[in-house]
Amino acid sequence: MKIGVIGLGYVGLVTAACLANNGHQVIGADIDRSKIERLHRGQAPIYEEGLDELLAQARAQGTIEYMTDIAQAIKESTILFVAVGTPSLPDGSANLDYVWDICEQIATYGQDGQLIILKSTVPAGTTDAFAERLIQNNHTRFLDVIHNPEFLRQGQAVHDFLHPDRIVIGYENESVIPMINKLYHFSEAPIQFCRRTSAELIKYAANSFLAMKISYINMFSQLCEAFGADISDIAKGIGTDPRISPHFLQAGVGYGGSCFPKDIQALIQLAKAHGHTLPLLEATQQINRRQMTHFTEKLEQRLGTLDRKRIALLGLSFKPHTDDIREAPALRFCEICMAKGANILAYDPLVRAFPYAHVKLVSDPYACMEGANALVILTDWPEFRTLNWQRVCALLREPLLFDGRNLFSTQEIKFLSQSHPLEYHSIGRPHVK
Ligand code: NAD
Repeated sequence: MKIGVIGLGYVGLVTAACLANNGHQVIGADIDRSKIERLHRGQAPIYEEGLDELLAQARAQGTIEYMTDIAQAIKESTILFVAVGTPSLPDGSANLDYVWDICEQIATYGQDGQLIILKSTVPAGTTDAFAERLIQNNHTRFLDVIHNPEFLRQGQAVHDFLHPDRIVIGYENESVIPMINKLYHFSEAPIQFCRRTSAELIKYAANSFLAMKISYINMFSQLCEAFGADISDIAKGIGTDPRISPHFLQAGVGYGGSCFPKDIQALIQLAKAHGHTLPLLEATQQINRRQMTHFTEKLEQRLGTLDRKRIALLGLSFKPHTDDIREAPALRFCEICMAKGANILAYDPLVRAFPYAHVKLVSDPYACMEGANALVILTDWPEFRTLNWQRVCALLREPLLFDGRNLFSTQEIKFLSQSHPLEYHSIGRPHVK
């Protein structure tokens, strides 16, 4: 039984690598020729912890092959994962062009008894429409089209794929159940079988809930600044209640990445198209945007102006342990600061390319600091916690640290500032001098 994975991005490549190391024979297909060439050379086109090793093992065992010929991958697979991107259209709704492109190709090249698994995040009703389109195009011999949303977290994608909390399957045909059990034999997670539209909405509900939690604590961070309270105390005080839990209660400059902003916007548009409004999610977006505006205003206020100021920026990826900068807060930070005339030198442990030519990337964290008016942290990479502060303070023109991720506790900073002349500003907490 061959498994085809179409679209080898963060989701597809991790899916392919994990399945190829768990008793399955996998074909990975992507239209991006350079990606496939890199994979043929044994190089992963993205960074995920453990991914290189899994791909090398699968290659050595002969359980994975790569191709750009999507038709051939469709013809040869019994189970076919669709993991292509579903980016935003200008109005924020989901662009399903890549999904429909694959649908057309399956209508032409699909096999009898084939199980099609939509892994891409798609608006409610898409999986039903996918199956309907196949039938309209005279392909009626597939077993089922199911929706199996992916909940992996970038930066821990391999771990999350192999050890999921749950597997959600939106299906139509009961006979897929044994096949799904066999496919995911390596996981002990409960499998939730449900309607296809429910599965589609579960993914959006999960992402928007997590984003809402981040905006909730960020909303309180603004109140804390007004009252001189400490947002870390609030997060601890509510997070110890198991009904709330401590996860996603870290105040900061806001969420980013390829999923939260895009999926929330797509859900708002989907609801709107069906005559509904989602005020909680509209507020979630607003608060998220305001966090960065507020952060840069504080920086500007402290420096007097941003014009011709030099900023040392640590962290470009939207979260640690990934090289992904899609919708990263660092992009908006740079846009705001550059528009106000600031010069930015940046360092990130994994990011090697950034879309703004004016932001100079350096290969060592200290290399961006010399003569800088402020040091700004936008990604909570653990290595930023262990900087040599003596060296940092000697390099900076002014020993100002703006921490957009509350990477340090107030106690740690108070302790540090006893021996170093640091002035520390963070989110939702009094500044420390
Ligand atoms: P990605 O942009 O990293 O990868 C998509 C891949 O699909 C690219 O390699 C692209 O070349 C390929 N592709 C596009 N059109 C194609 C076609 N016609 N034929 C073959 N390949 C094609 O995207 P991603 O981050 O892996 O996300 C994929 C989907 O999974 C999206 O719907 C996303 O919302 C969802 N998702 C992503 C994450 C995540 O953390 N990145 C998590 C859960 C769900």
